[in-house]
Amino acid sequence: MTYDKNNIFAKILRGEIPCKKIYENKFVLSFHDISPQKKIHALIIPKGEYIDLDDFIKNATEKEILEFFRGLTHVAKLLKVSSIDGGYRSLANIGKNGGQEVPHLHFHIFGGEKIGKMVS
Ligand code: AMP
Repeated sequence: MTYDKNNIFAKILRGEIPCKKIYENKFVLSFHDISPQKKIHALIIPKGEYIDLDDFIKNATEKEILEFFRGLTHVAKLLKVSSIDGGYRSLANIGKNGGQEVPHLHFHIFGGEKIGKMVS
C-alpha cells in the first residue's frame, strides 16, 4: 500500500484544511478530533508520510519515533489528562480490522472523564 497524499490529515498538514490545533513542533501536529467521542478527544500525527504504526516503525527514523511518543505525552500534559491529572487512553487503529479510517498514522487521546470498556 502506498501513502495517499490526499488523505485528510495530509491536507491538514499542508494547511489546505483547518484544524483546532493543540500543539505542533518539527515532528508532530496535534489537534482536536472533529467528532469527539469523549469529553476530551485529541489526535496526534507525525509530520512524515506514514500510513500506520507498522509503516512508521518500519520506515521512520529513531528520532521521529521518539519525538512522536514524546509529543503524545506532552499533549496529554497540555490537556491536563496525564497520569497525575486522572489519566487517559491512547490508541491507534491500524488497518481494516483495526477500524482505521484515515490512512495517515494517528493516535487518539481520550480523557476528561472515565473512558470505560477497552473495546466494543
Ligand atoms: P480512525 O478511525 O482511527 O482512522 O480515526 C479517524 C479520526 O479522525 C476519527 O475520530 C474522525 O472523527 C477524525 N477526523 C476525520 N476528519 C477530521 C478532521 N478534518 N479534523 C479532525 N479530526 C478528523
